[in-house]
Amino acid sequence: MKRVTLFSVLFFLAVVSFTQSYAQEVIKKKGYTLTFESNFAQLDPKLKKRLIETFFEVYPKLAKEYNPNTIKEVKFFVDTNYKGVAATSNGKVSFSSNWMVKHPEDIDVVTHEVMHIVQDYGRSVGPGWLTEGIADYVRSKFGVDNPGAKWTLPDLKPEHSYKNSYRITARFFTWIEKHVKPGTIKAIDASLREHTYTPSIWAKLTGKDLDALWADYVKNPQL
Ligand SMILES: [Zn+2]
Repeated sequence: MKRVTLFSVLFFLAVVSFTQSYAQEVIKKKGYTLTFESNFAQLDPKLKKRLIETFFEVYPKLAKEYNPNTIKEVKFFVDTNYKGVAATSNGKVSFSSNWMVKHPEDIDVVTHEVMHIVQDYGRSVGPGWLTEGIADYVRSKFGVDNPGAKWTLPDLKPEHSYKNSYRITARFFTWIEKHVKPGTIKAIDASLREHTYTPSIWAKLTGKDLDALWADYVKNPQL
Protein backbone atom coordinates (compact mmCIF):
# COMPACT_ATOMS: atom_id res chain seq x y z
CA MET A 1 0.00 0.00 0.00
CA LYS A 2 2.77 2.37 0.97
CA ARG A 3 4.64 1.48 -2.16
CA VAL A 4 1.59 2.15 -4.29
CA THR A 5 1.18 5.55 -2.64
CA LEU A 6 4.83 6.41 -3.22
CA PHE A 7 4.54 5.34 -6.84
CA SER A 8 1.43 7.49 -7.26
CA VAL A 9 3.21 10.49 -5.80
CA LEU A 10 6.21 10.02 -8.07
CA PHE A 11 3.95 9.58 -11.07
CA PHE A 12 2.05 12.73 -10.14
CA LEU A 13 5.32 14.69 -9.79
CA ALA A 14 6.51 13.39 -13.15
CA VAL A 15 3.29 14.52 -14.81
CA VAL A 16 3.50 17.94 -13.15
CA SER A 17 7.12 18.51 -14.16
CA PHE A 18 6.39 17.35 -17.72
CA THR A 19 3.41 19.69 -17.90
CA GLN A 20 5.48 22.57 -16.56
CA SER A 21 8.38 22.11 -18.95
CA TYR A 22 5.94 21.87 -21.87
CA ALA A 23 3.70 24.63 -20.54
CA GLN A 24 1.20 25.33 -23.26
CA GLU A 25 -0.73 28.51 -23.72
CA VAL A 26 -3.46 29.10 -26.26
CA ILE A 27 -4.02 32.70 -27.29
CA LYS A 28 -6.87 33.80 -29.58
CA LYS A 29 -7.11 37.18 -31.26
CA LYS A 30 -8.53 38.68 -34.47
CA GLY A 31 -9.76 35.26 -35.66
CA TYR A 32 -6.33 33.66 -35.23
CA THR A 33 -5.11 31.17 -32.66
CA LEU A 34 -1.56 30.82 -31.46
CA THR A 35 -0.54 27.84 -29.35
CA PHE A 36 2.65 28.67 -27.50
CA GLU A 37 4.86 25.93 -26.11
CA SER A 38 8.34 25.84 -24.71
CA ASN A 39 10.66 23.27 -23.19
CA PHE A 40 12.95 26.08 -22.02
CA ALA A 41 12.29 26.67 -18.33
CA GLN A 42 14.27 29.95 -18.21
CA LEU A 43 12.39 31.57 -21.08
CA ASP A 44 12.15 35.29 -20.30
CA PRO A 45 8.43 36.18 -20.00
CA LYS A 46 9.19 39.46 -21.82
CA LEU A 47 10.60 37.57 -24.79
CA LYS A 48 7.64 35.22 -24.78
CA LYS A 49 5.26 38.18 -24.75
CA ARG A 50 7.09 39.79 -27.64
CA LEU A 51 7.05 36.60 -29.74
CA ILE A 52 3.28 36.37 -29.22
CA GLU A 53 2.66 40.07 -29.89
CA THR A 54 4.74 39.97 -33.06
CA PHE A 55 2.73 36.99 -34.33
CA PHE A 56 -0.59 38.78 -33.85
CA GLU A 57 0.73 41.99 -35.36
CA VAL A 58 2.29 40.45 -38.45
CA TYR A 59 0.47 37.25 -39.36
CA PRO A 60 -2.95 38.82 -40.10
CA LYS A 61 -1.26 41.44 -42.30
CA LEU A 62 0.66 38.82 -44.28
CA ALA A 63 -2.48 36.70 -44.61
CA LYS A 64 -4.42 39.68 -45.95
CA GLU A 65 -1.68 40.71 -48.36
CA TYR A 66 -0.62 37.30 -49.71
CA ASN A 67 -2.91 34.43 -48.77
CA PRO A 68 -6.30 35.00 -47.06
CA ASN A 69 -6.80 31.21 -47.05
CA THR A 70 -3.76 30.59 -44.89
CA ILE A 71 -4.34 28.47 -41.76
CA LYS A 72 -5.85 30.26 -38.78
CA GLU A 73 -4.11 28.16 -36.09
CA VAL A 74 -0.36 28.37 -35.66
CA LYS A 75 2.01 26.80 -33.14
CA PHE A 76 5.18 28.31 -31.70
CA PHE A 77 7.66 26.09 -29.91
CA VAL A 78 10.75 27.47 -28.16
CA ASP A 79 13.06 24.50 -28.26
CA THR A 80 16.30 23.99 -26.33
CA ASN A 81 17.26 21.15 -28.68
CA TYR A 82 16.97 23.07 -31.95
CA LYS A 83 20.40 24.06 -33.23
CA GLY A 84 19.51 26.44 -36.07
CA VAL A 85 17.75 29.80 -35.69
CA ALA A 86 14.18 28.76 -36.44
CA ALA A 87 12.31 26.45 -38.76
CA THR A 88 8.74 26.03 -39.87
CA SER A 89 6.72 23.05 -40.99
CA ASN A 90 3.05 22.11 -40.86
CA GLY A 91 2.01 25.37 -39.22
CA LYS A 92 4.53 25.01 -36.40
CA VAL A 93 7.47 27.34 -35.91
CA SER A 94 10.35 26.03 -33.79
CA PHE A 95 12.61 28.70 -32.36
CA SER A 96 16.05 27.96 -30.98
CA SER A 97 16.03 29.04 -27.32
CA ASN A 98 19.78 29.53 -27.61
CA TRP A 99 19.45 31.98 -30.53
CA MET A 100 16.59 33.91 -28.96
CA VAL A 101 18.46 34.32 -25.66
CA LYS A 102 21.55 35.60 -27.47
CA HIS A 103 19.55 37.72 -29.93
CA PRO A 104 16.29 38.77 -28.23
CA GLU A 105 16.23 41.82 -30.52
CA ASP A 106 15.92 39.58 -33.59
CA ILE A 107 12.17 39.41 -33.16
CA ASP A 108 11.41 39.51 -36.88
CA VAL A 109 12.60 35.93 -37.14
CA VAL A 110 8.86 35.58 -36.43
CA THR A 111 7.97 37.58 -39.54
CA HIS A 112 10.23 35.50 -41.79
CA GLU A 113 9.01 32.19 -40.37
CA VAL A 114 5.28 32.90 -40.37
CA MET A 115 5.62 34.04 -43.99
CA HIS A 116 6.63 30.45 -44.72
CA ILE A 117 3.23 29.38 -43.36
CA VAL A 118 1.46 31.98 -45.52
CA GLN A 119 3.48 30.89 -48.56
CA ASP A 120 2.13 27.33 -48.30
CA TYR A 121 3.89 26.28 -51.52
CA GLY A 122 3.73 22.59 -50.61
CA ARG A 123 6.25 20.77 -52.77
CA SER A 124 7.35 23.98 -54.45
CA VAL A 125 7.67 24.14 -58.22
CA GLY A 126 10.16 26.99 -57.71
CA PRO A 127 13.72 27.04 -56.38
CA GLY A 128 14.53 27.31 -52.66
CA TRP A 129 16.30 30.66 -53.05
CA LEU A 130 13.03 32.14 -54.29
CA THR A 131 11.08 30.92 -51.23
CA GLU A 132 13.71 32.33 -48.84
CA GLY A 133 14.17 35.53 -50.84
CA ILE A 134 10.43 36.23 -50.65
CA ALA A 135 10.36 35.52 -46.89
CA ASP A 136 13.17 38.04 -46.29
CA TYR A 137 11.59 40.55 -48.71
CA VAL A 138 8.46 40.28 -46.56
CA ARG A 139 10.49 40.62 -43.35
CA SER A 140 12.03 43.78 -44.78
CA LYS A 141 8.60 45.18 -45.71
CA PHE A 142 6.48 44.07 -42.73
CA GLY A 143 9.03 43.54 -39.95
CA VAL A 144 8.15 45.18 -36.62
CA ASP A 145 11.72 46.10 -35.60
CA ASN A 146 14.39 45.31 -38.16
CA PRO A 147 16.44 48.38 -37.15
CA GLY A 148 16.45 47.15 -33.52
CA ALA A 149 18.07 43.93 -34.74
CA LYS A 150 20.40 45.91 -37.05
CA TRP A 151 18.89 43.77 -39.78
CA THR A 152 19.22 45.45 -43.16
CA LEU A 153 19.31 44.55 -46.83
CA PRO A 154 23.01 44.32 -47.70
CA ASP A 155 24.49 46.58 -50.38
CA LEU A 156 25.04 44.88 -53.70
CA LYS A 157 28.48 43.37 -54.15
CA PRO A 158 30.09 42.16 -57.40
CA GLU A 159 30.00 38.54 -56.30
CA HIS A 160 26.26 38.61 -55.54
CA SER A 161 23.63 36.71 -57.51
CA TYR A 162 19.85 36.61 -57.20
CA LYS A 163 20.31 32.94 -56.36
CA ASN A 164 22.16 33.85 -53.14
CA SER A 165 18.76 33.73 -51.42
CA TYR A 166 17.64 35.48 -48.22
CA ARG A 167 18.57 39.17 -47.91
CA ILE A 168 20.58 39.44 -51.13
CA THR A 169 17.59 38.21 -53.12
CA ALA A 170 15.25 40.30 -50.95
CA ARG A 171 17.14 43.48 -51.88
CA PHE A 172 16.81 42.64 -55.58
CA PHE A 173 13.05 42.08 -55.11
CA THR A 174 12.74 45.42 -53.30
CA TRP A 175 14.48 47.06 -56.26
CA ILE A 176 12.10 45.33 -58.73
CA GLU A 177 9.09 46.56 -56.75
CA LYS A 178 10.41 50.11 -56.70
CA HIS A 179 11.97 50.51 -60.12
CA VAL A 180 10.43 47.91 -62.43
CA LYS A 181 6.88 46.95 -61.51
CA PRO A 182 5.10 47.08 -58.16
CA GLY A 183 3.16 43.91 -57.38
CA THR A 184 5.65 41.62 -59.12
CA ILE A 185 6.67 39.73 -55.97
CA LYS A 186 3.06 39.32 -54.89
CA ALA A 187 2.29 37.77 -58.30
CA ILE A 188 5.35 35.51 -58.10
CA ASP A 189 4.29 34.38 -54.61
CA ALA A 190 0.76 33.59 -55.84
CA SER A 191 2.10 31.59 -58.80
CA LEU A 192 4.25 29.50 -56.47
CA ARG A 193 1.24 28.74 -54.28
CA GLU A 194 -0.86 27.82 -57.33
CA HIS A 195 2.01 25.75 -58.73
CA THR A 196 1.84 27.70 -62.00
CA TYR A 197 5.29 29.27 -61.55
CA THR A 198 7.80 28.85 -64.36
CA PRO A 199 10.88 31.03 -64.95
CA SER A 200 9.09 32.62 -67.93
CA ILE A 201 6.67 34.36 -65.56
CA TRP A 202 9.27 37.07 -64.86
CA ALA A 203 9.23 38.20 -68.50
CA LYS A 204 5.42 38.00 -68.60
CA LEU A 205 5.19 40.27 -65.54
CA THR A 206 8.03 42.70 -66.18
CA GLY A 207 9.01 42.37 -69.86
CA LYS A 208 12.43 40.97 -68.90
CA ASP A 209 13.74 37.65 -67.69
CA LEU A 210 15.55 37.29 -64.36
CA ASP A 211 19.06 37.60 -65.81
CA ALA A 212 18.12 40.77 -67.72
CA LEU A 213 16.48 42.22 -64.60
CA TRP A 214 19.58 41.40 -62.55
CA ALA A 215 21.83 43.04 -65.19
CA ASP A 216 19.73 46.23 -64.96
CA TYR A 217 19.91 46.04 -61.15
CA VAL A 218 23.70 45.74 -61.17
CA LYS A 219 23.96 48.80 -63.41
CA ASN A 220 21.85 50.91 -61.08
CA PRO A 221 21.26 49.21 -57.71
CA GLN A 222 20.04 52.17 -55.64
CA LEU A 223 16.81 51.49 -53.81
ZN1 LIG B 1 13.22 30.69 -44.25
